[in-house]
Amino acid sequence: MNGFSEDILYDCVIVGGGPAGLTAGLYCARAKMNTLLFEKGTLGGQIAITDLVENYPGFPEGISGKELTQRFKAQAERFGLKIHRGEVLKIEKVDKELFIHLRTGQMVRSKTVVLAVGASPRRLGVPGEEEFLNRGVSYCATCDGALFDGVPIAVIGGGDSACQESLFLTRFGSVVYLIHRRDQLRAQKHLQEKVFSNPKIKFIPNKVVERIEGSQAVERLVLRDTKTGELSELNVEGVFIFIGLEPSTGFLKGFVELDERGYIKTDERMRTNVPGVFACGDCRSGATGQVAVAVGEGCIAAIEAEKYLQEEF
Ligand code: NAP
Repeated sequence: MNGFSEDILYDCVIVGGGPAGLTAGLYCARAKMNTLLFEKGTLGGQIAITDLVENYPGFPEGISGKELTQRFKAQAERFGLKIHRGEVLKIEKVDKELFIHLRTGQMVRSKTVVLAVGASPRRLGVPGEEEFLNRGVSYCATCDGALFDGVPIAVIGGGDSACQESLFLTRFGSVVYLIHRRDQLRAQKHLQEKVFSNPKIKFIPNKVVERIEGSQAVERLVLRDTKTGELSELNVEGVFIFIGLEPSTGFLKGFVELDERGYIKTDERMRTNVPGVFACGDCRSGATGQVAVAVGEGCIAAIEAEKYLQEEF
């Protein structure tokens, strides 16, 4: 049974192993709650694909997302958190028990659930994007940047991710075109300053991608000017898309209350509308996309889960 049992009624099941979930896991395990954490992909969530986390307190020089994830994991496991690979397809509540159904057909029972399912990269939705996925189109600079050594790269977006990852991609690309639909970047000012002072980054404002073209792999972008409507071509071999995130909450529809954009609604104590079910991090309505906030929310969710256990069981 992969180290967990269908016969046990767990104290807490955490869904998602990013900063929020791993912190909730650390707190639950340290409170001696019998806790399982399920992650369907790679631990770390969005930071697992972030080259450098510069604004998480305690690391004045910054820390790689990968290393920070390893540290979160090691600390949680030290207190007994059990981490499993597994995709949760459905959760239901019968009386006071929560039933967590996994893709494998297995089911786990728990007294509480912490939803820390995070968010995933938004797609542009233009011709060529799906076709050239992994053949020039990518949503992860740390994973794929090195494939584009010495060739022109485009980054799409104007937020923190687009700017941060453009800077990282200058290690590889002969040039990095930062293509944004407006003339003002949305990113934090210090990132903008770094971007504008980097000679390898060429900012292309007021353009959107009309389509991505090539034969075997990406060869060029067709861009549309957002002011004039004029079309132009730009030769690139790599296209990195950072146009925001979408919550990974599809499987929760009808179980917990979501906002109009699909994020999980909670109160300030991370409680959803279902008693015993909590949510934290990037999947929560009002998420800020900051590791420090995700960590704080994971902590609150775990403390509230423990309180709920004491009151209800
Ligand atoms: P974001 O802040 O939502 O920015 C998305 C960017 O993509 C915006 O500039 C937006 O343009 C553009 N965009 C959206 N849809 C588009 C479309 N269909 N076509 C073209 N452009 C489009 O997303 P993010 O940069 O991925 O960041 C997500 C969250 O993580 C944010 O809260 C961010 O602060 C956080 N984050 C923080 C750090 C850090 O603190 N160092 C690093 C990375 C991410 P407009 O500006 O015109 O809306």
